[in-house]
This record gives sequence, structure tokens and C-alpha cells, in this order.
Amino acid sequence: MQDCIFCKIVRGEIPSAKVYENDSVLCFLDVAPAVRGHSLVIPREHVENILEIPEDMAAHLHEAIRRVGRGIIQGLKADGFNVGMNNFQAAGQVVMHAHWHLIPRFHGDGLQL
Ligand code: 5GP
Ligand code: ZN
Repeated sequence: MQDCIFCKIVRGEIPSAKVYENDSVLCFLDVAPAVRGHSLVIPREHVENILEIPEDMAAHLHEAIRRVGRGIIQGLKADGFNVGMNNFQAAGQVVMHAHWHLIPRFHGDGLQL
């Protein structure tokens, strides 16, 4: 998708702080983080939302989410993390390229999501 911000990140046309990548998935830090380490996991291929994700892609994404989550726990020494996804505009989706938010959490951080 020519004008999609996340496709531009995949193509390297917009810089990103990559956390993890493989042939089918890219993970990078959110440019406006809710908290330090707020990461996004996206498929390299442009699909708009969770309803468009084929099974094989879902397996790769799930593996990447777990990998980045483990990194948040072990690397950032977080006590936990939230995994969230907005699907369709009404649910708060702004970037129309499917993505998961991974948000590090700490005991007593008081973060309201
Ligand atoms: P949504 O509301 O669509 O679920 O969230 C989109 C997320 O993408 C937001 O948290 C926003 O900060 C992030 N974002 C938007 N543009 C960019 C960008 O160019 N680079 C990065 N790293 N994150 C972005
Ligand atoms: Zn895209």
C-alpha cells in the first residue's frame, strides 16, 4: 500500500526503532509511547485488521507477540504487559495496517489504558 505509514516503515522509507523482525513480521517502538518500551507488532504484508489475517500469518504474529512480550519482561524487567489491538475506526484504529500494541506494565504504575 503506497500511502500506508506502516508499509512505509516496512519498506524503510520511514525510520523506526526496530525491536524484532523476521520474514513475515516487524516489531518497532511506538513513536508516541504510552510508556517506555511501548511496542507495535505488525505483519510485513498490508492487511487492515484482524479479520483479514490468514491463519499462517496469525501464527507468525502470535509467535512475535510472545517473543517481544518475553523481551519486555526479561529486558525491561517489567512485571507484566498488555497486548491490545484496535480494529476499525470506531474502535480507535488510526493506522489502517493491522497492529498489536504491547505495553509494559509495572506494579503500581497506575497506567489507565
Ligand atoms: P492505533 O490507534 O491505530 O491502534 O495506533 C496507531 C499507533 O501507531 C499509535 O500508537 C501511534 O503512536 C503509532 N504511530 C503512528 N505513526 C507512527 C510512526 O510513523 N512510527 C511509529 N513508530 N509509530 C507510529
Ligand atoms: Zn500497510
